[in-house]
Amino acid sequence: MQRRARVPCAGPRAAYGLRGAGVGGTGVGGRGVTGNVPPMALPATPPSPGRLVVFQSRKGKRCAACRRGPLSLLVLEDGAPRCLACADLGHLVFLPRGDTALTRRSREESTLSVVVVRFNRRKSRYERQGVLVEEAALARAEERCLADAEARRRRRARDARRRTAEDERFTAAFAAGILRLFPGCPAERAAAIAAHASVRGSGRVGRSAAGRALSDDAVISAVVAAVRHVDTPYDQLLMAGVPRHEARRRIAPAVRGALRAWREPGEDVG
Ligand SMILES: [Zn+2]
Repeated sequence: MQRRARVPCAGPRAAYGLRGAGVGGTGVGGRGVTGNVPPMALPATPPSPGRLVVFQSRKGKRCAACRRGPLSLLVLEDGAPRCLACADLGHLVFLPRGDTALTRRSREESTLSVVVVRFNRRKSRYERQGVLVEEAALARAEERCLADAEARRRRRARDARRRTAEDERFTAAFAAGILRLFPGCPAERAAAIAAHASVRGSGRVGRSAAGRALSDDAVISAVVAAVRHVDTPYDQLLMAGVPRHEARRRIAPAVRGALRAWREPGEDVG
């Protein structure tokens, strides 16, 4: 008579059928409460009066109609517990709370959906545990969520490809801008300077508004910075503790010489 029905464990996303929650039991329920269960074990007031609600219970209640039990999920009808099968909810599956989009879509897809609550004794209130929905509705909702995830993944890939193409076009335009002002600059060097200046998120001159507009000043700044770091001992001076302004003063002639050489077509700065 008191056979224990085990409720299958479910992960946060897993839904389990409820038909297996109750076992055996015959006879017609009278008062509906078996002897070892205190009559007031379940608070009789549902959270939303008049709305269909399913209660999670650890109280070992039995169905007042078919006497199956103990029931982990039950409905109260006129204060008497009923199993989901007797309440005509046996065809629904439990979707635990936690995935808002899946829950919303499952309810949209389901002709009948019922909120499952549990009484939190410590907080003296009912807390929502999930919903019961039609299994086919849950499957459709899962498909919609998967399709969304796939659509997002494809959009991210498209965005990444577009950004890469934009970066390549921008870097090429920047390199062309360098060669326009400094025709003597080797092409591969111009490409390297442009690529360095255009790195996305670098905050370098190529990514500034002036750089994106390819102003002469932005191009010259990028070239000067490159010459300073690559063609002069600027970095070694800084490393040796020479103050920045003093270091710049010392390398200024070398920078001017390099720029002057690059401004003339075909000359090599050596
Ligand atoms: Zn029943």
